[in-house]
Amino acid sequence: MTEETIFTKIINGDIPSDTIYEDEHCICIRDIAPQAPTHLLVIPRKPIPKLADMTPEDKPLLGHLMLTIGNIAQQVGVGDAFRVVINNGANAGQTVFHLHFHILAGHPFSEGLV
Ligand code: 5GP
Repeated sequence: MTEETIFTKIINGDIPSDTIYEDEHCICIRDIAPQAPTHLLVIPRKPIPKLADMTPEDKPLLGHLMLTIGNIAQQVGVGDAFRVVINNGANAGQTVFHLHFHILAGHPFSEGLV
């Protein structure tokens, strides 16, 4: 069995977090080391290690996550300007191997991606 990630421990309530939203499929917490004035993490409860590990059966979950991201952005007041980032794999900067979506907002973004 693979070891629990920090996000599974947060989801299970074993480690505290600043949780701003939760439902039966996912939670949204504030990033502990924010890289923008608003930096949230949307995390599915299902412990999928990374985006590329999703399967066709995860399609409804993926749709739910994307809709939830938009709703949360509205809820926290950044709905008209936010960036969503998914790091897939260590070489892309992923450090926690439990799929999560970064919501970044609150400062100007350049037009490029990198
Ligand atoms: P990654 O680098 O995997 O895309 O993103 C992992 C993110 O999780 C990082 O931005 C990091 O700051 C955040 N993070 C790591 N440990 C914790 C924690 O214990 N609590 C919270 N709220 N965020 C964490």
